[in-house]
Amino acid sequence: MHHRTIIEPFRIKSVEPIGLSTESERVEYLKEAYYNPFLLRSRDVIIDLMTDSGTSAMSAHQWAGMMEGDEAYAGSRSWERMQAEVRDLTGMANILPTHQGRAAERILYGHLGGPGKVFISNTHFDTTRANIEFSGATAIDIPIAEGRDPALEHPFKGNLDTSELERLLTEHKDHVGAVILTVTNNSGGGQPVSLANAEHVSSICKRHGVLFLLDCCRIAENSWFVKNREAGMEGLSYRQIAQRMFALTDGAIMSAKKDALVNMGGFLAVREGTLAEACINLLIITEGFTTYGGLSGRDMEAIAIGLQEVFDPHYLDYRIRSTTFVGDKLHALGVPLMRPTGGHAVYIDAKALYPHIPPHQYPGQTLVCELYRLGGIRSVEIGSVMFGTYLPDGSLKPSPMELVRLAIPRRVYTQSHMEYVAETFEEIMRTREKVRGYRIIKEPKFLRHFTAHFEKL
Ligand SMILES: *Cc1c(COP(=O)(O)O)cnc(C)c1O
Repeated sequence: MHHRTIIEPFRIKSVEPIGLSTESERVEYLKEAYYNPFLLRSRDVIIDLMTDSGTSAMSAHQWAGMMEGDEAYAGSRSWERMQAEVRDLTGMANILPTHQGRAAERILYGHLGGPGKVFISNTHFDTTRANIEFSGATAIDIPIAEGRDPALEHPFKGNLDTSELERLLTEHKDHVGAVILTVTNNSGGGQPVSLANAEHVSSICKRHGVLFLLDCCRIAENSWFVKNREAGMEGLSYRQIAQRMFALTDGAIMSAKKDALVNMGGFLAVREGTLAEACINLLIITEGFTTYGGLSGRDMEAIAIGLQEVFDPHYLDYRIRSTTFVGDKLHALGVPLMRPTGGHAVYIDAKALYPHIPPHQYPGQTLVCELYRLGGIRSVEIGSVMFGTYLPDGSLKPSPMELVRLAIPRRVYTQSHMEYVAETFEEIMRTREKVRGYRIIKEPKFLRHFTAHFEKL
């Protein structure tokens, strides 16, 4: 018999209670948090879809591995395991452990960046852009045109616009720090990048003598899409597809908090020795010695195991299927979505949901607050709060899209949790015309979405 239902390929061995709250309690909590869900307490959240980062449930095998962690300062056995695993996956000789993705970014882009330098990506993730801009360099996003149209169906909306890449590499000759392919494209809707696109980008970079890097946080999820959507890839394993993509690049950055199925960790992988040397110097100054970086032995053990588990075909089928399940439910309700559903999250087009709320009144932030008020669901705005900038006259230069992300933690929630989320959207749809926007009353200079305060209009 062929079953329609793709089940969770695991049993639950340990549970964590969810604190349930009432709508009137949540109205108060939201006010106390200045309408910024980053300032809410986790215990006041019912379903936390703020991020898939560091929120994975580890397997029994990973927990057992943690007991095996070797906490030696130098040459730890757990480091040997992690290094061997990452070398095998990436095919790169130099592996630098870091406490999370952005630490690897600060080291690499701090070294490659600086005033006058330009970085080009399908879409820079927020910490990537912040680290590049903090060095004084400029970050330019060039996703394919299809990637900027939320409702359009396209198998690889994460692809980078290669003709624009050619043009930019000529325009900024000798000033390009690196070209970065983010797989899957987190800020661009969790959309995949095809192997053909990565190959094309790689050949252009080679011809121009420019460094080509992979932001590989969700490399296993990306491989699922390549195998299932790209012609000629059916015969390869998910891991082989990932290895092919790494083989095209000069280096990679990973936040292990995503596809390494752990709660903390990351690494930087560099093919070439001179660049690695420079990064190792920075690693030792700011993260730790080369055989642990910012990690404990037990973290490295869990990463080594997680990087194997994540390529299990049953896990990946379940993973992509459970994200699509949410996307399909909301699509059926008429919720305007980024289509097709990406790998780790469902992205709602808040501009289309609330056409009466202009970008400077933050339609995305409005939806985020409504989801929390009605369902205790925590989500994140990826729009003009996260990416908006100010023009010289003080007015807002909005982000091209006003998205809200429902990120699905790995191996954490069940189908009934997701049905509850869909039910909350029924009410969102019923009341969409009545809600009003927000304004910012306090904000920092960088990454303002984390700490900004808002006021209801
Ligand atoms: C999460 C993430 C990062 C940063 O990693 P942290 O571990 O959060 O510091 C960088 N790039 C992408 C695409 C990410 O999703």
